[in-house]
Amino acid sequence: MNEDAAHALRALPSVDLVLKSPAAALALDRHGRIEATRAIREELARQRLAVRAGGAVPDAEAVAAVALAALEAAARASLRPVFNLTGTVLHTNLGRAILAEEAVAAAVAAMRQAVALEFDLDSGGRGERDDHLRDLLRELTGAEDATLVNNNAAAVLLVLNTLGRTAAGAPREAVVSRGELIEIGGAFRMPDIMARAGVRLVEVGTTNRTHSKDYAGAIGPDTGLVMKVHTSNYRIEGFTAEVAARDLAGIARAHGVPLVNDLGSGTLADLARYGLKHEPTVREAVAEGADLVTFSGDKLLGGPQAGFIVGRRDLIAAINRNPMKRALRVDKIRLAALEATLRLYRDPDRLAARLPTLRLLARPAAEIAALAGRLAAPVAARLGAGHGVAVVDCCSQIGSGALPLEQIPSAGLALRPAAGSGAALGRLASGLRRLAVPIVGRLADDALLLDLRCLEDEAGFLAALDGFAAAGGSA
Ligand SMILES: *Cc1c(COP(=O)(O)O)cnc(C)c1O
Repeated sequence: MNEDAAHALRALPSVDLVLKSPAAALALDRHGRIEATRAIREELARQRLAVRAGGAVPDAEAVAAVALAALEAAARASLRPVFNLTGTVLHTNLGRAILAEEAVAAAVAAMRQAVALEFDLDSGGRGERDDHLRDLLRELTGAEDATLVNNNAAAVLLVLNTLGRTAAGAPREAVVSRGELIEIGGAFRMPDIMARAGVRLVEVGTTNRTHSKDYAGAIGPDTGLVMKVHTSNYRIEGFTAEVAARDLAGIARAHGVPLVNDLGSGTLADLARYGLKHEPTVREAVAEGADLVTFSGDKLLGGPQAGFIVGRRDLIAAINRNPMKRALRVDKIRLAALEATLRLYRDPDRLAARLPTLRLLARPAAEIAALAGRLAAPVAARLGAGHGVAVVDCCSQIGSGALPLEQIPSAGLALRPAAGSGAALGRLASGLRRLAVPIVGRLADDALLLDLRCLEDEAGFLAALDGFAAAGGSA
């Protein structure tokens, strides 16, 4: 090492000196002494190497600022809020439904205080967790009884495990159409779930056509249930035939076996009322004669993750006796949020205003287009000269397997880097993902499309974009 470098190294501030700088005071306050000191030592070690290599000597404040930035980055939550501008309203990878304020308040209250979760306030004796939702679910679905578990996959598993085995635990048969042997994603495949539930799958019909006689011919002494599954994420079109739920209920009843209808998304409201295409409601599925109906809490229903089972009282009682029920139960926080969410359905007039899922799905395209028009210039200003920003018409979808082919007219901003290359587009997308509140769009037509259907916090969105240059997005 030459004399200049040795001299420069001696000029590096000490840990104690750095600790006295204003940025270090912030680091100490937010992250504690041990973490702040460690981060400063690490940065000083890096600077020592840089100075040896001929770099300039930083002052104490500069070292503290870098250490503080490193601490802040490391302290950022892993599960972070994002702007979902993908155009898929119920995006499974982005957490599906956003909760109503009423549900958020109920969940917070249940977190802060003791709650009468399994405690009967009238008698002072033991109560049941399901009691908080049973009457509401009966009222909203017309079913005799109801229970709930962790998610709809768990609901299906529990129903199969309860109805698809003898009292001694021997497998019985579940009769399902070949056209309904779905894979939902995330390894939820109906045949695999049946195997794990200890049920023997009996496939009937063909991929495109299944008839009444196929079901009737397959039901025998070992049949535990007939199952109908909502083909959530695909449609079979052309030369097709399926047996309507009402007819299937008749066949099952004639043979004395229960019919289970897995609705998947399962809505409690008539979507046509809100300008969307009609999706079968849970009430309709119950009225069509299904003995049990299963559906999700965080799809069209618009609540937290949960799986509902509604239907015949004796079958619900059998499900509640299954020891697996205990392993799949829902916690107090979600129970509180679900109760508040379900209550909103009692007032259909104000439902779309209160329930974010429905509000976003029903949001008029003209309103979204006006938003896109307002945002184009401020977004362009924040992205800088290297990017084109155009207002475009586009289509949103519901997501999570509800009406998979339904395209809902929407509007958004198409962002195009002036460089025009795929790599530049990738850098733009990743720049937006690195913001303090990441912005997630979708790639379409050589542009990054931000579908604005789900953007309600305009000011927050622009504030997040303020960090674009700093996040290296314009590099
Ligand atoms: C989504 C879906 C499921 C799984 O529901 P989760 O709540 O995601 O566990 C099961 N069956 C069908 C038909 C579905 O669409």
